[in-house]
Amino acid sequence: MDQTLPAATGFLVSAHPGGGQGLAPVFATQGSHAPVAQALRSQTLDAVLVHSGAPERAVARSGDMALVLAGELYNREELVSVLPPGAGDGGDAHLLLALLKVYDLHAFRLLNGRFAAVVATGDRVLAATDHAGSVPLYILPAPGRVLAATEIKSLVPEAARTPPSGRPVPEARRVRRVPGVHQVPAGAVLDLDVRTGAAVRTRTWTPPVSRRVMAESDATTAVRETLERAVRARTAGTAPLVVLSGGIDSSGVAALAAAHTEGPLDTLSMGTDTSDEFAEAGVVATHLGSRHREITIPTADLLGQLPHAVWASESVDPDIIEYLLPLTALYRALDGPARRILTGYGADIPLAGMHREDRLPQLDTAVALDMATFDGLNEMTPVLSGIRGHWSTHPYWDRDVLDLLVGLEAGLKRRYGRDKWVLREAMSGLLPEETVNRPKLGVHEGSGTTSSFSLLLMDAGIPEADIHRAKRLVVQEIFDRVVVEGLPPAEVATADAVRQVADRLKESE
Ligand code: ATP
Ligand code: MG
Ligand code: MG
Repeated sequence: MDQTLPAATGFLVSAHPGGGQGLAPVFATQGSHAPVAQALRSQTLDAVLVHSGAPERAVARSGDMALVLAGELYNREELVSVLPPGAGDGGDAHLLLALLKVYDLHAFRLLNGRFAAVVATGDRVLAATDHAGSVPLYILPAPGRVLAATEIKSLVPEAARTPPSGRPVPEARRVRRVPGVHQVPAGAVLDLDVRTGAAVRTRTWTPPVSRRVMAESDATTAVRETLERAVRARTAGTAPLVVLSGGIDSSGVAALAAAHTEGPLDTLSMGTDTSDEFAEAGVVATHLGSRHREITIPTADLLGQLPHAVWASESVDPDIIEYLLPLTALYRALDGPARRILTGYGADIPLAGMHREDRLPQLDTAVALDMATFDGLNEMTPVLSGIRGHWSTHPYWDRDVLDLLVGLEAGLKRRYGRDKWVLREAMSGLLPEETVNRPKLGVHEGSGTTSSFSLLLMDAGIPEADIHRAKRLVVQEIFDRVVVEGLPPAEVATADAVRQVADRLKESE
């Protein structure tokens, strides 16, 4: 079986008492669509799956329980060990179903994965994300019907029809300008009553708030081994592609992936006409003997793809969009067959890689803050690469890796004047010394994205002091077009959004 992509990479679900209903999904994620209809004792689960050829493996049904799963699990061996033999044979959805029969919603506490799931049973609908909410999941609950989807756009038409009486969801974030739609929190299950639409939240993961003291060699060994397991689980026996900057995070992933790939690894770097990291990535590609490719994107093109970045990520955070824009452009340029893509994304959050100074209290404050506020930013969303039909996955946000990295005492993260010390030390045998010691450079910096976006706004007459605020407004403006109004991103121009924001700021002076 081809494991390049998970069985399903997205879905729209409707759960309701009574007969079947037609669904009209809208996805940025590319793939075939397959309908699902499961009539249970007191409700029907209708769905449309985005898939790549084996949608039946993303659906499981037994007795009065049915579920759909987008994404994949990484701790299958652990999970099957608590079940009777053969329980996980039909794929991850079947494995989850078997676990739910034993543990009910507490099954989600066991999972290390990258997924969103919806389960219907009795009068209940469970909507769940992985620990990091890395596959965003949205719900629109109302009395007599619960809708759920991996992309906001699929819920927009129904949100317009459902009276704003759509039930409030406690402890869940509302979606900007789409009344009634809420995002399922990261590391949580919402247990909804399909008759009333009422929801109760159960947390299945929280970032550790304690820190562990470890000897240097114990810490580096633990990081190396845990990350290696995460990379191996994510290569899934395929030949993956690593998006490589030559920074320590992606280079570490590439080195570990190369060790688990038969034949040469594929690596890919992007740069712009303004700025690139080709030389640094090239050093790593040569060292690993990977089949390496470089893609150069003109800066004007890059900025023109802002609507695609917002359309895919459905994020309204301007900083996040600056990180995601160069990757959006990279994935869009990656045509050809679907690929399983590994990234070094997210290592800087638990390790405070952006923290460019020596003081440890400030470092741990940054880690605690970032781990408390990542939810809802959609930084890890698979839709980014999904718009070209690829599947991306991030080993540093593996549940075990994240638990370990977050929980290390700050002095292991910043040590001997080095940022991300424990990771650099863990990777030192696998990479050239210059790579291990290379200072951190964010993807938004290495591609010149932050500065060229700023320039675009200054050219439109926006004063420097207003730039960050203007970026937020531009991103919101684009979100309102491509997500709320449902315009195709190709029909929305970055330049128009910039002009509107510039005019608005001028008026308000
Ligand atoms: P460091 O954080 O130390 O710079 P890094 O470059 O690997 O290491 P980020 O800069 O945080 O990590 O970027 C996040 C991820 O995005 C990278 O790990 C890599 O997978 C991907 N990425 C970043 N820049 C590029 C690039 N120019 N080409 C291809 N992929 C990139
Ligand atoms: Mg990084
Ligand atoms: Mg970098």
